[in-house]
Amino acid sequence: SGQFSQPVGQLANASGQLQSGVASAGRVFELLRAPEQQPDPERPVPPADVRGRVEFRSVSFRYTPDEPLIRDLNLVVEPGQTVAIVGPTGAGKSTLANLLMRFYDPDGGQILLDGHDISRMTRAGLRSWTAVVPQDTWLFAGTIADNIAYGREGATREDVIAASRTACLDPFVRTLPAGYDTMLEEDASIISAGGRQLVTLARAFLAEPRLLLLDEATSSVDTRTEALVQRGMAALQAGRTTFVIAHRLSTVRHADLIIVMRDGRIAEQGTHDELVRSDGPYAGLIRAQAGAVRKV
Ligand code: ADP
Repeated sequence: SGQFSQPVGQLANASGQLQSGVASAGRVFELLRAPEQQPDPERPVPPADVRGRVEFRSVSFRYTPDEPLIRDLNLVVEPGQTVAIVGPTGAGKSTLANLLMRFYDPDGGQILLDGHDISRMTRAGLRSWTAVVPQDTWLFAGTIADNIAYGREGATREDVIAASRTACLDPFVRTLPAGYDTMLEEDASIISAGGRQLVTLARAFLAEPRLLLLDEATSSVDTRTEALVQRGMAALQAGRTTFVIAHRLSTVRHADLIIVMRDGRIAEQGTHDELVRSDGPYAGLIRAQAGAVRKV
């Protein structure tokens, strides 16, 4: 199962941990300790193609024996849907993503991808269908083209430009003197935060994932590229099953399904309109956010 089988959370060398060059979920979800991993199955289910239907069926999970976290969680996501996961810190949002990527296996219940129990797939097989777009973009010293091409082994210049166009990165790159050959330092400080996010999106496009895990940035990027990032993100999500740990109301509002996590449980799920109407925890969050905005 390659790069991904190492203990996440102990990332001495991030580049050794990258999956299809997109990002190591370990960097995203910051695991605190290495999981006790079950071995990969001897006769894995090898889905030749994945549509992206995800089901959590009565899933329970605990990191430590005396502290159950996820309890009897049920969730069905149809192919291509976007699920926004909201809830306070510690509610279990990242844990859902960790379980979906098999950094941990449930103690009870099953997680199914297109009806296949993911514990019957190899980790590498499962993860090859997935791209992770982290909060903090990860770029390396090299040209912009190199940084995009990292999304797929053997990507050509044409592939890179095509992905860049779809990700709305191309207009941005054209404003740089050396275009795709612009050299980035490790901190990529030559381009804006928005530009860095666009590079990450183009890289994810190249990986052609069926599942996307997005950890939405809390801070907003420069207004110049904000619109491009929004469009690139929407294009990337189109037709792909997407789980987004969401911080922005606009993202949440447009999701096909919102799940509100509390103490390892789904406190509520539904669309924005449904949840506003039912006047539960979600409606409370919305009111709190509106109040916070007014105070600014
Ligand atoms: P969220 O993403 O909603 O902030 P998490 O899924 O990261 O929540 O965490 C849920 C709970 O599990 C928290 O109480 C957290 O401290 C705990 N937790 C997360 N990762 C680990 C780990 N690797 N080992 C032990 N406890 C963990």
